[in-house]
Amino acid sequence: MKHLSIFGATGSIGQNTLDLVRRNKGLYSIEVLTGGRNLDCLVSNALEFRPKIVATAHNDIYQELKEKLSGTGMQVVAGVNGMADAASLPVDWAMSAIVGAAGLEPGLRAMQAGADLALANKESMVAAGPLMRQTSRENDVALLPVDSEHSAVFQALIGEDHKAVERVILTASGGAFRDWSLEEIAAATPEQASTHPNWHMGQRITIDSASMFNKALEVIEAKELFDFKANQIEVLVHPQSMIHAIVGFQDGGLMAHIGPADMRHAIGFALSYPNRSYLPVERLDLAKIGRFDFSSPDLKKYPALRLAYDVMDLGGFSGAVYNAAKEIALDAFIAHRIGFLDMARVVEVVLERIFVKNTSKENNFCLENVLNMDQIGRTYAKEEIEKNL
Ligand code: NDP
Repeated sequence: MKHLSIFGATGSIGQNTLDLVRRNKGLYSIEVLTGGRNLDCLVSNALEFRPKIVATAHNDIYQELKEKLSGTGMQVVAGVNGMADAASLPVDWAMSAIVGAAGLEPGLRAMQAGADLALANKESMVAAGPLMRQTSRENDVALLPVDSEHSAVFQALIGEDHKAVERVILTASGGAFRDWSLEEIAAATPEQASTHPNWHMGQRITIDSASMFNKALEVIEAKELFDFKANQIEVLVHPQSMIHAIVGFQDGGLMAHIGPADMRHAIGFALSYPNRSYLPVERLDLAKIGRFDFSSPDLKKYPALRLAYDVMDLGGFSGAVYNAAKEIALDAFIAHRIGFLDMARVVEVVLERIFVKNTSKENNFCLENVLNMDQIGRTYAKEEIEKNL
């Protein structure tokens, strides 16, 4: 029996993870579930899976959660400290599926307590890649990528010599605005950006897919997870979202990972790693699909992607600032306070205010320093948004 914690259980990745657990009940036991504001979902999952600890990120709903779970024997905790305590319960495997930088600390705590960490929360690697890697090394636990592209790279690299890798190609669907003009994109609303042609995901990552902030975070995540150089990582628009990533080797060979657009593949792979197990995902009929299309991303339409390469060049804490400024800009876009393309402008200005090229090679990656830079990025982004309203 494998003991699991699920951080961000009420979200899209969390629910997909619980779906796999539900289908394999004898194999797994859930020890910790965390959520945010979606109390109904958290309570219903808690009653079904009977974890030891149930946590919500928000202190103001602690009492209500406690009442709804009274008499069940489950421990109920809340807030950042409650989440950190819940994440410190020793388990075999933890799913990091909180959205945003809030996912960093629970993931670190779980690794420190000895859990292999299944990493959907790409923001952790972007903001604190060196700290994540060090924590995994020091505690002898695995960092298992769950982003479909990174799971694909991980799978393509099994048994391969890392030094023989020439390049890595991450595919991108192009998001909601793939076929829109620059002028149309500039006027796009949050509602229009919140639908994805191929994947069903949380609202924030769906909008990040339309702006390619999501792909930008993934490029940085790939560098941090696999120790590639920035110039080894390419992005290719592939509207079908069936080839998730391609690894190119020095003999010219390309290893592509092909699968349906269903996150349960990557989650299931991480759950049964190092083995493979049956997964209830669609089997692709390639003859029916008929073709795969590819094109290069247009960096004018997707400035977030260009900025990701600047961040990798800058190094240090620029990833933490990039992500923090992006989260604030995304909040402002969702609230109709800034336009779609303003999100990248805000992030670019914040990066320029804080970093001068090649001067940020700071390497003291403790949690406190990362959170401090995250906070500075948020403050500056808010200032820029206020200034330009
Ligand atoms: P969702 O928005 O669907 O879910 C996010 C989860 O995080 C929810 O459980 C939410 O709680 C919780 N949460 C939100 N804010 C906080 C906070 N401040 N503190 C603690 N918990 C919080 O997101 P997704 O499942 O789509 O994505 C989760 C992560 O996985 C993201 O990092 C995303 O980039 C990554 N990812 C997602 C993929 C997907 O297919 N969805 C694919 C690859 C990566 P509540 O809803 O109860 O408020």
